[in-house]
Amino acid sequence: MRASVAARTAILPYRPGLAVVLVGENAASGVYVRNKDRAANGAGIAARTIRLPATATEAEVLATVAALNADPEVDGILVQLPLPPQVGARAVIEAIDPAKDVDGFHPVNVGRLHDGQPVLAPCTPLGVMRLLEHAGVALRGARAVVLGRSAIVGKPMAALLTAADATVTIAHSRTRDLAAECRRAEILVAAVGRPEMVRGDWIAPGATVIDVGINRLSDGRLVGDVAYEEALAVAGAVTPVPGGVGPMTIACLLENTLIAAERRRSSQHERHPAATASAPC
Ligand code: NDP
Repeated sequence: MRASVAARTAILPYRPGLAVVLVGENAASGVYVRNKDRAANGAGIAARTIRLPATATEAEVLATVAALNADPEVDGILVQLPLPPQVGARAVIEAIDPAKDVDGFHPVNVGRLHDGQPVLAPCTPLGVMRLLEHAGVALRGARAVVLGRSAIVGKPMAALLTAADATVTIAHSRTRDLAAECRRAEILVAAVGRPEMVRGDWIAPGATVIDVGINRLSDGRLVGDVAYEEALAVAGAVTPVPGGVGPMTIACLLENTLIAAERRRSSQHERHPAATASAPC
């Protein structure tokens, strides 16, 4: 996917621009942002990171977003979560121009996704869909169980699977018999943030298991929400952690940035043909 984005950006008369807003010094966020920067620049996307101190006010973050909304060189805006407690994530997400919302978290994009319209979909569930497509997993009519109902992963995941004609169950912390729900799944997507919660005997023989979870253990090891070795013995396919979904999230961010750039700049061209026709290539 990264090579394909790079090939598509190489023939554009402009470089798509991605702006990442990082508030404070969260170590994990710092690593994500560096990885995003590196991947974007390698795919012909001009990435820049705007760093604000941990003490930044909500008004300062909103002003940064407003400036990026107005910046013609910026096609995609991503505000790295979590934000410090004095800054409301909801207010910040709602301030992003939906056309530049490459994370797909703005309510307009959430609504469009659930309405089945073309949309900038959230990168992690989109990455899961790309993995399933690439592996040739049949989705139409398949029984899919999504474990987790967050706005970032679980709910958009269920919407994308539904749009692909799967029969989707969303399970969560109040689900009565989680193991039994999971055992019914031909496709199981785990996004709970509980280390190795999904055991081998929760998985139907031959099922496709996608592990979105990223959990750091006290000994420093990184594991998913699925007991990988146990799953391997019974599943038809299972994604590893690390690897698997994580790199797909970044690849989808690049693709969303490219799509946002193409849509926005071509609609500008339609609105102002004379102004853009003479733009330098
Ligand atoms: P949230 O904490 O926002 O949501 C977790 C969901 O899991 C909730 O819906 C919660 O249910 C459910 N849940 C929690 N505990 C249990 C339990 N014991 N039994 C059943 N359901 C449970 O997490 P996210 O969706 O943001 O992330 C999930 C995981 O995915 C994390 O490990 C995160 O690090 C990872 N992640 C990975 C990404 C990637 O790029 N690979 C990107 C984003 C996240 P309820 O709603 O009832 O509370």
